[in-house]
Amino acid sequence: MSLLALSDVSVSYGPLTAVRNVTLEVGQGEIVFLAGPNGAGKSTLLRAVAGVLAPSQGKITLAGTPTAGLRSEALVRLGFTLVPEGREIFGSLSVAENLAIGAYLRRDRDGIDEDMDFVLTELPALKPRLRDPAGLLSGGQQQMLAIGRALMTRASLIAIDEPSLGLAPKLIDQVYDILLALREKRDLTLLIAEQSFLRAVEVDARLLMLRSGHVVGSGKARDLAAERSLEGSFFGFEGAAA
Ligand code: ATP
Repeated sequence: MSLLALSDVSVSYGPLTAVRNVTLEVGQGEIVFLAGPNGAGKSTLLRAVAGVLAPSQGKITLAGTPTAGLRSEALVRLGFTLVPEGREIFGSLSVAENLAIGAYLRRDRDGIDEDMDFVLTELPALKPRLRDPAGLLSGGQQQMLAIGRALMTRASLIAIDEPSLGLAPKLIDQVYDILLALREKRDLTLLIAEQSFLRAVEVDARLLMLRSGHVVGSGKARDLAAERSLEGSFFGFEGAAA
C-alpha cells in the first residue's frame, strides 16, 4: 500500500485551476520530487496534501485514510508534516521554542526528549544556538531548524517546499546530505518540491514534472532527464540551481 496516494487531483483558487489531474503514489521510504518552474503548481499541490487547501477534484489518501475534510493537525497525527516554502520559522522565538512547536500535539514526554537529542545530534549547528532568537540564524541554519521542527512531529512522511531556496550551492548540498541521512536513519519518506529536476537526477529519485499546473512527465528522474535533454529549454529547467 502507498503511504501517500493522489488520484486525479485538481486544485483551484476560485476560477484559476492551479493543479490539474495529478495522480501520484509515494511508497514508504521513497523520495519523490515535484519539479517545475515558477507557477507550476508545486506549492499548491503540497498545500492540498497538507490539508491547507481542499482539492476541487480527486482524492488524496494518507496511510490508507482519505484526507478529505481533515485539518492539518489530523494529518500530523497520521504522520505527515509540511516544511513550507520560506520555512515559516518564528523569528522572535528561540531555536528551542521553534523545535518544541513541532512537538505540540505530542504527550509522550520521553519520546519528545529522545527526538530533541536526535535532532541536535543530526543537526549539530542548532545546538549552540538553542537560546538564540531563530530570526538571527543564517538561511541554511533556518532550513535545518525547519527540518528539525518537522522531525519533532515524529512524521514518517515529510514534504519540503523548495529546501534550496535562497541557499548557496554548498549549503544546498549540506541540506540534501542531511535529508538523505535522516531518511536512512528514520525510514523517512520525502516529497520534495524544487524548481530544478537536477537534484532528483543526482539522488536517483522518482520525479513528477509540472508546468502551469499540468503533469508534463513522471518516472525515474534519470530516465526523464535523458529523454528531455534536447527539450530542456522548452521545459525551462536548464541552469536552475538545485
Ligand atoms: P514557485 O516555484 O514560484 O513557488 P509553484 O510551482 O509553487 O511556484 P504555485 O505557488 O503553486 O506554484 O502557484 C500555481 C499557480 O497558482 C500560479 O498561477 C499562482 O499565481 C497561483 N496561486 C498561488 N497561490 C495563490 C493564491 N493564494 N491565490 C490565487 N492564486 C494563487
